[in-house]
Amino acid sequence: MQSQDVIRAVLAERRNRRQVNKILHGFPSPRFWKPPSPQQRDAYVSFIKEWSSDAEEVDFYVGVPYCPKTNPRKCGYCLFPVEVFNGSNQLDAYLDLLFAEGQLQPELKLMRPTSVFIGGGTPNLLKVGQMNRLFSILDSVCPAWRKAQLLTFEGLPALFTREKLACLADNGIHRISMGVQQLDDELCALSGRRQRVSEVLQVLQWCEEIGLNCNVDLIFGWPRQTIPSMISGLRRLADETSVDHITHYELNVGGSSEFALNLRHDLPDAKLTRDMYLEGRRFLLSRGFRQDTSYDFARSDQSNPTPHDYRECWSKFERRLIRGLGFAAISDITSNSMNSGWTVRNQSILGDYESSVVASEVPLELVYFRKKVDVQLSFLFREVQSLRLSDADFRKAFGESIHRRFGVELKVLAEAEMIKLSGDQIELTESGSYHVPLIQEILAYERQNELVANRICRMK
Ligand code: SF4
Repeated sequence: MQSQDVIRAVLAERRNRRQVNKILHGFPSPRFWKPPSPQQRDAYVSFIKEWSSDAEEVDFYVGVPYCPKTNPRKCGYCLFPVEVFNGSNQLDAYLDLLFAEGQLQPELKLMRPTSVFIGGGTPNLLKVGQMNRLFSILDSVCPAWRKAQLLTFEGLPALFTREKLACLADNGIHRISMGVQQLDDELCALSGRRQRVSEVLQVLQWCEEIGLNCNVDLIFGWPRQTIPSMISGLRRLADETSVDHITHYELNVGGSSEFALNLRHDLPDAKLTRDMYLEGRRFLLSRGFRQDTSYDFARSDQSNPTPHDYRECWSKFERRLIRGLGFAAISDITSNSMNSGWTVRNQSILGDYESSVVASEVPLELVYFRKKVDVQLSFLFREVQSLRLSDADFRKAFGESIHRRFGVELKVLAEAEMIKLSGDQIELTESGSYHVPLIQEILAYERQNELVANRICRMK
């Protein structure tokens, strides 16, 4: 166990730096995952057969790899694996592969997902006929997918048409999720993406007419962004549209993205970025939005989130699986006893994905086997995002008190006024709500060092 002094020193050293790690939805991060050996591949396939078909809570993710050409090759901040779109025939060929991958995983036929997210990449590159074909493929691969409580389809504003939105609604999709990022044409153009505010507003109006819910993603901490320009975008959404969900998240600058390589000097500093978060949060609360996670704000009459809202808000350390299908899709399977699990990523180079599927192999690129300590951290990472957690829920899931397991870390976080401890409850403060990535780092500090020391990390 780490001493309080060590944890205090780590927190003091990191709390005023620009946050470089985005919020993690599981532990450990993919840099600790490795290409599978034949034995690991077999162990994973047996594990999912044993633990996934009867699961009650499953989030089903379906990936589409392509994005429109930008200059540079992908959006300036993007850290996702993507392929450049050159024509519709690529999507036809990809749908064939998706169907074939589905046949390699027959347990998906029994799965009853609670939520389905069709993401990417840019799924709304699909034409209406291709969307219908994708939905037929899903009918065959996972017949219960349409019964999920929340069906989401992701896309770029400029590529939605009224006809595409009507097709989505006709197929039972509940909401679209648009990665808008900036409601300012000039700032948006810094990412290399051609996108107009007018296109975003048009799609929101169509959604309202058709009866589709809509989530809009916006980024703060963007090059040359100021607090007034940020508030202006939020105000337009809050006051001029009926958008029901806004994800307002911090720019993650890293890797070989254009922003990391060439626009670092234009980024707001750490203090201004934190102030942007706090001002944005206060503005949305003042407009009647309910804060569901550190970055998610919902326009809702209900005081508490429902399964139709962001799902981290109501899982309470309950066992929940993620099954991914397609290019770069991630799966996350935990055993019934919550003692072990696998997290894996499908191939993220399209040629490799295709070769695996054509060879009738589950297209695994990276895998990681979680011990109990990793499972605990993984669930804790998700729960922390909901800004409140309870010791009783942790005990029920893991058979021990969160205070016994993470007592030192929680004490230091409480001293730093990032969390409030009150009886059974742990609540994040306003400062803690901004510092969720740092809170995750602190909670995982000991285990992360252990993994690095054991040379489990691929990057070190
Ligand atoms: S559209 Fe999204 S996934 Fe595609 S390059 Fe841009 S940020 Fe990345």
